Amino acid sequence: MTDDRKLGFDTLQVHAGAKADPATGARQIPIYQTTAYVFKDADHAARLFNLEEVGYIYSRLANPTVMALAERIAALEGGVGGITCSSGHAAQIMALFPLMMPGCNLVASTRLYGGTITQFTQTIKRFGWSARFVDMDDPEAVRAAIDDDTRAIFCESIANPGGYITDIPAMAAIANDAGIPLIVDNTSATPYLCNPIALGATLVVHSTTKYLTGNGTVTGGAVIDSGKFDWSASGKFPSLSAPEPAYHGLKFHEALGPMAFTFHGIAVGLRDLGMTMNPQGAHYTLMGIETLSLRMEKHVANAMKIATWLENDPRIEKVTYAGLPSSPYHERIARICPKGAGALFTVSVRGGYEACVKLVDSLELFSHVANLGDTRSLIIHSASTTHRQLTPEQQEAAGAGPSVVRISIGIEDADDLIADLDQALARATA
Ligand code: PLP
Repeated sequence: MTDDRKLGFDTLQVHAGAKADPATGARQIPIYQTTAYVFKDADHAARLFNLEEVGYIYSRLANPTVMALAERIAALEGGVGGITCSSGHAAQIMALFPLMMPGCNLVASTRLYGGTITQFTQTIKRFGWSARFVDMDDPEAVRAAIDDDTRAIFCESIANPGGYITDIPAMAAIANDAGIPLIVDNTSATPYLCNPIALGATLVVHSTTKYLTGNGTVTGGAVIDSGKFDWSASGKFPSLSAPEPAYHGLKFHEALGPMAFTFHGIAVGLRDLGMTMNPQGAHYTLMGIETLSLRMEKHVANAMKIATWLENDPRIEKVTYAGLPSSPYHERIARICPKGAGALFTVSVRGGYEACVKLVDSLELFSHVANLGDTRSLIIHSASTTHRQLTPEQQEAAGAGPSVVRISIGIEDADDLIADLDQALARATA
């Protein structure tokens, strides 16, 4: 395109990051199945290693197929750059790595995905980092939890599993006042339904394992940078603002401006932590993203129809879908996810834990798996699986108590899914 028109989402999901292959003219992005890249000469190699020239060295740092995916997700999120990783959990560590030092903390939502709560309560302690969990519906509690050692606020746009919607602009305002970045996990919403950067987020993280790939084939993750944060303003982020000994004293922010976070993620994060996405994985995710908007439209339409049907069924106690007018988060949807409330929610079945387990075991079209964001409809009892490591209080706060099941609605015919739920509920509540 020769004019300055901003391309639309449906165009970007097909074209962003893709060029005809310079060697062969291949229209689809080739899977560059290579570990290393031949240098033109010794001087070229030295310049690449010094970050004086951008190019490919070794696939732990960068690979053309993988970089095309990073560029595509960054375009969809409205960011300046991105880093892809081997999983969503890897992406979370990669997002925090340049911000944190031993003794630093982050302020995180009580309603995060259970695996993230475990990563933040247990594993990051080994790095000397810690997390303070706060109800993000209480902005004053979020403000009060921030101290001089806080380096980020972390939330999910649509929280897994409870369908809770975070007031991202309110969290962004608090982060801005404190001079720290807001990190939003946009996995359950996808950039089609929610644009955290436009709402004030600094960084967006994804488990690309879910809707972006969309068919349950590969694990992956991504960190997207808005390019808007001033990493040098406070002295709190020396990895990005102070001289980097491993690059002859290079100051990433001074030298690379808005691309500092992305370059640091590749040149230091992937180089030394090695949580790299492989080109085969990137290929599957690129294929998935080409149809993201079409799938999300169907996911949302199906979820709305099925959540409405469930809510009106006397065998059901509660449905947490924010698309329903009865949801306490319904008003936020128009502001945070204008194209719909996603396709993930929890259901409480009359009869409690026993009925939930029988429901899961009686379904025929729904798959009982620990995943979400698949073309297929999925169900799981979170309290005994994905949220098992949490205390009962943490499970309740995350919306994953023992008497609820989590449902991820796929893109099948909604009437077939309703018929399956109907027969399974009959058996579960008999
Ligand atoms: N974030 C959310 C919202 C998730 O649901 C998950 C996994 O279920 C993750 C992060 C972690 O992603 P991955 O399983 O790709 O490591």
